Amino acid sequence: MTRSTADIRRAFIEYFNKHGHQAVPSSSLVPHDDPTLLFTNAGMNQFKDCFLGAEKRSYTRAVSSQRCVRAGGKHNDLENVGYTARHHTFFEMLGNFSFGDYFKEQAINFAWNFLTKELGLSEEKLLVTIYHEDDEAFDIWHQKVGLPADKIIRIATSDNFWSMGDTGPCGPCSEIFYDHGAHIWGGPPGSPEEDGDRFIEIWNLVFMQFNRQADGTMEDLPKPSIDTGMGLERISAILQNVHSNYEIDLFERLIKAAAQIVGSDDLNNKSLRVIADHIRSCSFLICDGVMPSNEGRGYVLRRIIRRAVRHGYQLGCSQVFFYQLVSQLVAEMGEAYPELSEQQAVIEKVLKVEEEQFANTLDRGMSILNQALETLEGKQVPGDLAFKLYDTYGFPVDLTNDVAREKGLTVDEDGFEKAMQKQKEMAQSASKFGADYANVVKVEQDTAFSGYDALSASAQVI
Ligand code: ATP
Ligand code: MG
Ligand code: MG
Ligand code: MG
Repeated sequence: MTRSTADIRRAFIEYFNKHGHQAVPSSSLVPHDDPTLLFTNAGMNQFKDCFLGAEKRSYTRAVSSQRCVRAGGKHNDLENVGYTARHHTFFEMLGNFSFGDYFKEQAINFAWNFLTKELGLSEEKLLVTIYHEDDEAFDIWHQKVGLPADKIIRIATSDNFWSMGDTGPCGPCSEIFYDHGAHIWGGPPGSPEEDGDRFIEIWNLVFMQFNRQADGTMEDLPKPSIDTGMGLERISAILQNVHSNYEIDLFERLIKAAAQIVGSDDLNNKSLRVIADHIRSCSFLICDGVMPSNEGRGYVLRRIIRRAVRHGYQLGCSQVFFYQLVSQLVAEMGEAYPELSEQQAVIEKVLKVEEEQFANTLDRGMSILNQALETLEGKQVPGDLAFKLYDTYGFPVDLTNDVAREKGLTVDEDGFEKAMQKQKEMAQSASKFGADYANVVKVEQDTAFSGYDALSASAQVI
């Protein structure tokens, strides 16, 4: 029997709760006191100060299912959506944490027992990576857990060495991978084919054991800590006997709903997967108070909405559709995230206005782009054209890139930047695409936040 995504989320929390972990609700996608971070992108974000020792809580073990967005910023999976079986812009990260309580051996044991005993995964399908110098982790996996040596892969890159910043807590990680079978292209981690989707990383165990000093030296942390993260959708895929995250229960229903709304009957269409992915990130971002705008977080949101709308257009949909998916999303996730249900009307309104506005220029912009692509010489969409689409038709450059990529082309982004610069110098108005959301809904703004300038660099916002 397969297990539902909701059931797996519950089982994870219960398992760690039973082992002395305090269940902590997911924090907002907008980090509260960290202007260096665009969006919450891991379960540990809300516990940062606990790891640094700057904050003491009444518990030393915690468990959570954290909503995360990886679109823009240090971790950006926006370009992966629609292309890999395992990446979303929005996903849930299941995590167990030890703040100076248990360490490496127990963390490995918890993870292994949860996967193989609680969830019943077959041991033969699992393999792990460790940081190449971490002999302690090797011994635990090999001697205590009993994993054969050829299933423990030593990795020398930063993929297996985690750090919070240039200084401060850091340490090696060990990642658990699942082999989806030889019929899928890809190789084990560390091999030339590792980017394929045969061996999918499911769980990252971070062993925070050093404190890196400004001069680069590593001191042992007096009380080492544990931070782990497992993608809920990835573990669901395994337990539901499917390969892609986009085939799990929740996505199957979202994709069906999307197909119905846009009037498509090709359920395997990539555009439907993109739309189903994007409705989650967009809805949760609005739920957490982000509004579409031309800068910072709001611009990332606007870009994702416009990409989704473009994919609906690609499927031949000529009506405003995206907001209509919110009710299906609420049906899927409203129980686990009551704030989503509470904000449903706001989310729908914001999405509707944003889509209506873009719909006015999308068709015209797409015909200009398509015409240009037909007569294009070479493999690169000229920067001037990408800029015209941006400036006159509201096409974020990544959207133009998304269209180009489908045809095996790229966009001359340097040329785009130059055209943008030229226009700035001519001191024309920055954009004609601002919506007045104050008239649509009254949304509480996060007045404490003042980091857009700091953010724009990492968000690659234009
Ligand atoms: P990958 O190498 O597959 O991109 P990652 O190493 O970037 O994953 P981590 O930063 O280690 O991922 O995050 C911990 C876990 O969160 C991963 O093991 C994976 O299960 C899940 N995860 C990470 N990124 C995504 C994503 N974009 N969509 C869905 N799940 C994700
Ligand atoms: Mg990644
Ligand atoms: Mg990885
Ligand atoms: Mg990882």
